[in-house]
Amino acid sequence: MTSDAHAAFPAPTDEVVELCRDLLRIDTTNTGDNATSVGERGAAEYVAEKLTDVGITPVIHESAPGRANVVARIPGTDPSRGALLVHGHLDVVPADADEWSVHPFSGEVRDGYLWGRGAIDMKDFDAMVLAVVRDWQRTGVRPPRDIVLAFTADEEAGSEYGAHFLTTRHRDLFDGCTEAIGEVGGFSYTVDPSRRLYLIETAQKGIDWLRLHARGRPGHGSMLHDDNAVTALAEAVARIGRHRFPVVVTDTVRAFLEEVSEVLGIELDPDDPEAAIAKLGPIANIIGATIRNTANPTRLAAGYKDNVIPGRASATIDCRSLPGQSELLERQLRELIGPDIAIEYVQRQPALETTFDGELVAAMAAALRAEDPGARPVPYMLSGGTDAKAFAQLGIRCFGFAPLRLPADLNFSALFHGIDERVPVDGLQFGVRVLDRFLRTC
Ligand SMILES: [Zn+2]
Repeated sequence: MTSDAHAAFPAPTDEVVELCRDLLRIDTTNTGDNATSVGERGAAEYVAEKLTDVGITPVIHESAPGRANVVARIPGTDPSRGALLVHGHLDVVPADADEWSVHPFSGEVRDGYLWGRGAIDMKDFDAMVLAVVRDWQRTGVRPPRDIVLAFTADEEAGSEYGAHFLTTRHRDLFDGCTEAIGEVGGFSYTVDPSRRLYLIETAQKGIDWLRLHARGRPGHGSMLHDDNAVTALAEAVARIGRHRFPVVVTDTVRAFLEEVSEVLGIELDPDDPEAAIAKLGPIANIIGATIRNTANPTRLAAGYKDNVIPGRASATIDCRSLPGQSELLERQLRELIGPDIAIEYVQRQPALETTFDGELVAAMAAALRAEDPGARPVPYMLSGGTDAKAFAQLGIRCFGFAPLRLPADLNFSALFHGIDERVPVDGLQFGVRVLDRFLRTC
């Protein structure tokens, strides 16, 4: 191809801004309810068109009307190798325009940032992937192994209409996939002007959402009553909410803490890692949640009249378990609430953990170092869950690697589902360069 022909194409680092802006302008709010969730079909069609445009053949898979997923396969030069899955969700959590400095679906560029709901969670990565593969198609680059692209619906409400639908109903799309990269990893944490940690997600906690059901004797609110379901439930909920589960340091968290303490020059007491974690600033909330099981009460329901004691009361508890601890967590909860309150699981998805080694990890680290000589890649555990939960069930080794270089003063973790979500334009462009290098060597 001549250099003139090249010049007719936008550079991927320019195009990524346009692609991300376009995606941000498509409101893909996922309310958790099919009747009020919007836009996933439009976003899927946009993505499919951008792929078709350069000669890739995507297929849109709808799980329910409007709930659309896009999957495509780019053949690699060595078909004997396992494929790499690159996945990103297209839905976003709701945003209230009144609370924002810019309209959450305006895709406005201001002060060096691209603003909008989904700017870091995770239309930024969707746009990076599109920018890289579009450039490859235009310039004749082929990846070393098959790459499967999956743009999913419904990640923000448990992935039933997205990743879980694809892995249960269209499993063949992922034939041969051995490894995957997706969201919430690969972002930088600045130590000093010459050193940045890049947190690569190698583990994530399990999701154990449960509902507690208390029963008692119904009665009149004016009388003496010693078998009140609301009282019993409230006591159980308060015990759970106040409880601190014991610290358990897993391999991933130990590797993270050792690296961090060395880089920051802080003393790490393996029996009391909390002192070291407290010094991490904005990411302390994420890391702090990865050294123990957690249980946060989120919903309460009881009663129908002010002077009637109801016969039942229920509460929802958002629990997150460390790898291999889901059963232990259930026993811990049982001990806290006693035998009389029933436990029902609303969601139960296991934690994930893989090792920080091998050729793929080396390729991630090399790509980061090539674009940022001060990069120190470290493994970490995400306290939440992602679409990786579904893909891991197919035996795929999942990583969070959506590379992003962030300014030192940006409170990144607060932007997830937060007000004024935004991505630095130069960080987005950095991500494209790293992703391009990584995918060429994956
Ligand atoms: Zn996300």
